[in-house]
Amino acid sequence: MLRATFTNEPSADFSDPAVRDAMQAALAKVGKELGREFPLIIGGERRETGNWIVSTNPGNTDQVVGKVAKASKDDALDAIAAAQDAFKEWRKLSMVGRASVLLRMAAIVRRKRFELAAWMVYELDKPWDEAEGEVAEAVDFLEWYAAHAVKLTERAELAHLPNEATDYFYQPIGVGIVIPPWNFPCAILTGMTMGPIAVGNTVVIKPATNTPVIGYKMVEIMLEAGVPGGVVNFVAGSGSEIGDLLVEDPRVRFVGFTGSKDVGVHIFEKAAKVQKGQRWLKRVTAEMGGKDAIIVDSSADIDAAVEGIVTSAFGFSGQKCSACSRVLVHEDVYDQVVDGVVVRTKAVVSVGSGLEGEASMGAVVDKNQYDSINKYIDIGKKEAKLVYQGDVPDAKGYYVPPTIFADAPRSARIACEEIFGPVLTIVKVGSFDEAIEVANDSEYGLTGSVYSGNRANLERAREEFEVGNLYLNRKSTGAMMGVHPFAGVKLSGTNSKAGGPDYLLNFVEAKAVGEKL
Ligand code: NDP
Repeated sequence: MLRATFTNEPSADFSDPAVRDAMQAALAKVGKELGREFPLIIGGERRETGNWIVSTNPGNTDQVVGKVAKASKDDALDAIAAAQDAFKEWRKLSMVGRASVLLRMAAIVRRKRFELAAWMVYELDKPWDEAEGEVAEAVDFLEWYAAHAVKLTERAELAHLPNEATDYFYQPIGVGIVIPPWNFPCAILTGMTMGPIAVGNTVVIKPATNTPVIGYKMVEIMLEAGVPGGVVNFVAGSGSEIGDLLVEDPRVRFVGFTGSKDVGVHIFEKAAKVQKGQRWLKRVTAEMGGKDAIIVDSSADIDAAVEGIVTSAFGFSGQKCSACSRVLVHEDVYDQVVDGVVVRTKAVVSVGSGLEGEASMGAVVDKNQYDSINKYIDIGKKEAKLVYQGDVPDAKGYYVPPTIFADAPRSARIACEEIFGPVLTIVKVGSFDEAIEVANDSEYGLTGSVYSGNRANLERAREEFEVGNLYLNRKSTGAMMGVHPFAGVKLSGTNSKAGGPDYLLNFVEAKAVGEKL
């Protein structure tokens, strides 16, 4: 029943008119469903709370995508109780039995790919290809974790004693809290939830407040695929209101978080404290922000570097944790790279409503992000040279133009702080040594790329560039599950490596048994 080998789900080709028609039809269908109310899901029961999180389209702020019930503290506690109860049975199911639920979910997600993508177009103003690509990634997470959960049942080889039989195997650990970000509300939420569930744990999901509707849709599919109520629970609510309560609860065994550094560090600290009645140390996987750099060496293929920089910087409006936000260019090729990046950005980056499916960038997620990015653009105008700023549509949405600063000092705020928008900072360096030093002079270590024709420099980067995901002569975005296991180092995270061979080990504990013969 389980696939012996894993292959990445191909993305749809939107240059094919039939594919565009399918996406238009999905947008029309979802368009008729906008504005509906969605409950919490606790122990399989739908629950309304009288309070709502209203999710709007950032590209058209008058458009309500949906209203999702907002959890109180009691709802959050009930969800943990439901997960604790469900753990008793779910942990006993065979790994193959649980993995088959993930495969069923993958099949449903695949069938609903355009519809799910359409929800993200409305809820995030995500461009069509990015939204559909994310759905394909959710399929990858499910199939990869299904296969790897089954692999975990293989007994490890141990040394033997002549008169003792030994055994070593993995068991699930318990109730987890899953706190995903808004930027990949389908794929990351799915992976963070279904990985732990595959190996026998139960989960309470608190979706990001900006994207609760797509979160709800994914949980509905989990239930449809056969995840029992209680094994997955859905409590939308504000992180600042119910986050600490969920993380600190002594019944919780692990916390999975993906989001900003500040919140991740806060959660890490809270989870570290052993609460009254707690009988374990909590595990935390916290995958956080980045200030991802692309290095362009003097020997680089400049056209390839320019293409990689522009794609990495402006895809999904720079709202990917892997987005390139600083470029460190050797002085010998500096002017060529700056000119090339500006020319290419003008040619290929356009801003407009995700709904129309034409522009390469939509709006940014909300007013806070819009204000914060614009604040950084103002700071950048004082710190560096503005070499390009594109246009934005005249629409009621949070549209920020692609913006490029050059000649930035390495210590400039725009060269050091995560902006999480379509703002690119270019820094000139005198040597490859200096490029590596500047790249590493950061609290973050998520992704990085090096464009170079010099093998020795590429090998130096392999060893010395302090990132969790390093790319040589290719862009810094577009990690594929199973191909580029993804997670950062330093203050970019706990290095849990989503979509990698070791990810599921974060959610099991190993037991060694020795039996005297
Ligand atoms: P946030 O840290 O703002 O939010 C992430 C999640 O944490 C949300 O669900 C949020 O809820 C919740 N939260 C907020 N406060 C608390 C709290 N006190 N306790 C528990 N949960 C809380 O990040 P964003 O959603 O803005 O995501 C963008 C960030 O995510 C960027 O920094 C980006 O680099 C990073 N990211 C990292 C990835 C990686 O793999 N390393 C992948 C994708 C994104 P609420 O929405 O209600 O505030």
